[in-house]
Amino acid sequence: MMGESRKSPCQRRAKIVATIGPASWDEAILRELIAAGVDVFRVNAAHNAPEERRAIVARLRAAAEAAGRPIAILQDLASWKPRTGPLGGEPFRLLREMRIRLVPGNEPITPDRISIDDPELVACLQPGHRVLISDGLIELVIEAREGEELIARVMRGGQLRGRQGVAVPGVLGRPFRLSERDRADIAFAVEHGLEYIGVSFVTAPEDVLAVRQVVQELGGRVRLVAKIERPEALTAIREIARVSDALMVARGDLGVQLPPEEVPVAQKRIIRVARASGIPSIIATQMLESMTMQPIPTRAEVSDVANAVLEGADALMLSAETATGQYPVEAVTMMHRIIVTTEQHLAPIPIPEEEEPTTIAATIARTATDLARRWRAVRVIVAITRSGFTAREVARERPGVPIVAVTCDPFVARQLALVWGVSPIAVSAFAETSEELIEQAARAARTTGLAAPPDHAVFIASLRYFPEPGHADTLHLRQL
Ligand code: PGA
Ligand code: MN
Repeated sequence: MMGESRKSPCQRRAKIVATIGPASWDEAILRELIAAGVDVFRVNAAHNAPEERRAIVARLRAAAEAAGRPIAILQDLASWKPRTGPLGGEPFRLLREMRIRLVPGNEPITPDRISIDDPELVACLQPGHRVLISDGLIELVIEAREGEELIARVMRGGQLRGRQGVAVPGVLGRPFRLSERDRADIAFAVEHGLEYIGVSFVTAPEDVLAVRQVVQELGGRVRLVAKIERPEALTAIREIARVSDALMVARGDLGVQLPPEEVPVAQKRIIRVARASGIPSIIATQMLESMTMQPIPTRAEVSDVANAVLEGADALMLSAETATGQYPVEAVTMMHRIIVTTEQHLAPIPIPEEEEPTTIAATIARTATDLARRWRAVRVIVAITRSGFTAREVARERPGVPIVAVTCDPFVARQLALVWGVSPIAVSAFAETSEELIEQAARAARTTGLAAPPDHAVFIASLRYFPEPGHADTLHLRQL
């Protein structure tokens, strides 16, 4: 029944990121997730120890290898997220108007004493501050301070479990800081050749640069996704984009730090800035949330996924749906179907805030897209790329035909799995002359099944300094 919808993932432009967890990390399910269309696997370092992650990553790589498709791995850093202490006994309900005591530290929580593991945040709290627990489910207001402790009143009650996230809108608390654990997780990513690190709770460009410095010291080349989930990051979004390799609209935490009604507009803005900066954007959290418990999504969720596609996001992400939900494969299949159907109605999305290309590579990429539109026989744009840059420049133009990225670097092929419209292929080595190179790229493009003679293709490459790396400077239009 579902077979019909599981078309080749190449026919889809927007990419799918699936978070891996207990619901999905068995080999058989991973294989099904790939068949259903996953392009990027995400593992959250906040939820597993390195030994466990080592085994997960090995399984992800094996599943991707078996599928013969380049698939990227994104590992999120835990970073700093204030949490309540663990549960002392059973989960309990906080009722409206109850008075409770907030204390710094990690002691087990009870219905009248709730610890928060961030003393600096607790020290900042003043009467009148609103404290949101568990993604905003529970809301407290501070009434008084007694030394290190605070008296709070429950404004919105709910079931409280242990180790729940705590947010205080408008209170910065601790600045971004890499913990020893984050450093170890960066080292893990480098050691395992992971393609992306998700830098959680970024506040400023310096935070991304701090992670980049650790990566460079370790000699890695893992790319950095700035997770936009604090209001400070939104204020500095352009500067953050300039030093990042991708942006994630982390709607879960962003929606507690900001009033949730501000998130949709923030999402549009982040997508625009990412595209203007030539880096991919990822829309995350609750996209098909109801599918954690039931096999079909709500109409509103379907709309949310479709609208993210229409806004021009590069990738859409599943979190609990695939990590802990009951229907991980169905969620990916549903996301694939919504994207494919919506893309049939996708009008060209102009690049905003940057009308004219300002580099040779960007000009060539735009011209390739024009050429593909004017010469109707063109069915594919083939980007010959060493670093992935040329392929990203073409993707940024959102051309009407698929983009095949031919690279001699398997790592680059895998990281391009995140980028809109790109079907990456790794060849073992580039041909020696430019003519042979085009011929080789044409052969590679034919193997994707996206186009075949007599279809035409636009080739885009950097030939001036070939075989040295350089930015795109050449266009070539011919039959495949
Ligand atoms: P998380 O990030 O799932 O790591 O919290 C995404 C979000 O906050 O939406
Ligand atoms: Mn988050």
